Amino acid sequence: MIPHDPLERVLYIDLSRRTSSIEHRPDLFETLLGGTGVASRLLLEECPEGVDPLSPEAPVILAVGPLTGHFPMASKTTALFKSPHTGNLGESHAGGRSAIALRMAGIGALVIKGSSDIPVLLVISPHKVSFLDARSLWGLEVGATGRALREVAGDSGLRSIIRIGPAGERLITYACAVTETYRHFGRLGLGAVLGAKKLKAIIISGRGSLKTADRRLYRETYEEIFQKITRTDSLKKYHDLGTAVNILPLNQLGALPTYNLQKTSFEMAEKISGEYLAQRLLGRRLACAHCPVACIHLAALRTPYEDEAYFYKTTFISYDYELLYSLGSMIGIGQAEEVLRLLHRIDNLGLDAMSTGVVLAWATEAFKRGLVTTRETEGLEPDWGKTEIFLEMISALVQQKNDFYRALGRGVDYASSQYGGQEFALAFGGNEMPGYHTGPAAHLTHLTGARHSHLDSGGYSLDEKEETLQKTPQELAEHLFREESFRQILSSLVVCFFARSIYGYETASRALTTVGFNLSPEELRELGQKILKIKYRFKLREGFSFKDLRIPRRILETVSARGKIPEAFLREGLKIYAQLVS
Ligand code: SF4
Repeated sequence: MIPHDPLERVLYIDLSRRTSSIEHRPDLFETLLGGTGVASRLLLEECPEGVDPLSPEAPVILAVGPLTGHFPMASKTTALFKSPHTGNLGESHAGGRSAIALRMAGIGALVIKGSSDIPVLLVISPHKVSFLDARSLWGLEVGATGRALREVAGDSGLRSIIRIGPAGERLITYACAVTETYRHFGRLGLGAVLGAKKLKAIIISGRGSLKTADRRLYRETYEEIFQKITRTDSLKKYHDLGTAVNILPLNQLGALPTYNLQKTSFEMAEKISGEYLAQRLLGRRLACAHCPVACIHLAALRTPYEDEAYFYKTTFISYDYELLYSLGSMIGIGQAEEVLRLLHRIDNLGLDAMSTGVVLAWATEAFKRGLVTTRETEGLEPDWGKTEIFLEMISALVQQKNDFYRALGRGVDYASSQYGGQEFALAFGGNEMPGYHTGPAAHLTHLTGARHSHLDSGGYSLDEKEETLQKTPQELAEHLFREESFRQILSSLVVCFFARSIYGYETASRALTTVGFNLSPEELRELGQKILKIKYRFKLREGFSFKDLRIPRRILETVSARGKIPEAFLREGLKIYAQLVS
């Protein structure tokens, strides 16, 4: 590490006392790089065992990495916290300008503890931390909060504004935090943790320059990486159609969860596909700071004014595959414009769109099977494809109208424990299902990944390439363990996962050398495993058990793209994974 690199500065915030302090922690960054590596160690240090995730003692940790600001696509910030949704490890990544803003503010990691007695806005700049009264913002939706803060915050184009909406304020356990309008710390409930701390928003800004260890080598390495990013076909697809390109192939494969995974192909897939959106609705593409890919697709949704002919209100809404699955096929919505209306509502309330879609899907099936009635739903009759009813249910859920909606506000695991229907409650480790019923590798990822996310070890992509049911559980578990370990390096650097084919161990090692870290590819490989094990140490400490993991019966009954998945196969894979991460 370059001596006195500001990356080593950890900013500690106490919201209860409204104090802040800086500690220099080269020990953390030299051994664990940054991002997830450093944040997972800080989580172990700062989070009391067994703490209530919504209590003042529960910390939120944001961290960037040694490549942030130096190399393209090192554009993400990692957030670690104890999840109120699963009661265990919470980890979420977001881009926008959050990473570069933290780095330019001269901070490698931020630890937020305590809770404020009134709603508060935290403003961080290089030599100053301010706590401002945010009572006038409390209750505002995400869009309005962003607009209000952009009016008063300086450094337009440089600063990052992270904020929560009403869902976070009301402690919905899968509330998200939004940054720069179109990026999210989406999964596992960071929004609720910030809401419990009465922290409505964080503004971070700074200007500066960064030092390199070897300018010539840095320029050469930068050029090599930049050329690979801009000339590689695998990244071009993220710019062209974005991940929405996956709808049609997954539908054709029989892997697109539809009607709460009662089916795996959707008769209206065409009209929620990336191709349909790009041809009819795509308004513009955006990029996170320091990324030449620009994969963020914004649809321009036009709504006519009632009393003025030929006048339209145009709203820009970001979309990607996961959102089109969860608010499209999963709940039977077969028209992209309708999915966008739901997305816009969910975004403004500050909910995680994936969990919300799966919750609505479970509620619809539970209603159709008679487990809940109009008494619970307050007169609503949920049914596949009914946008207006889903919009009303989302409002009722955020308002926490009654016990049923309060249960829905805690996710499908909890709701099904109260009303029945566990066999079709599609959550893994408490986290709602991503959009892949590709085969056993995908579901092993959802079960074993430290975040219970498809991103942890990308098993779906292995299912797409190989006959995974012909492999042994041992082979799959070992493959996923290697992949999840590798991804710990990406999320410690912190590099966008879309660049995983660019930043292999060799390239990451060279890039690190230019900024003062000397780690061979082999040492990085070992470090990835070490970071994964630190995360698992936290999970196990907080009560996670492979043995007790619930496998939703629906994923065993509905035939996947690779065939029917035997439970024994998954259980064996879990046993092996438990040994690998212990
Ligand atoms: S590829 Fe997309 S998500 Fe990744 S850094 Fe670039 S713009 Fe952000």
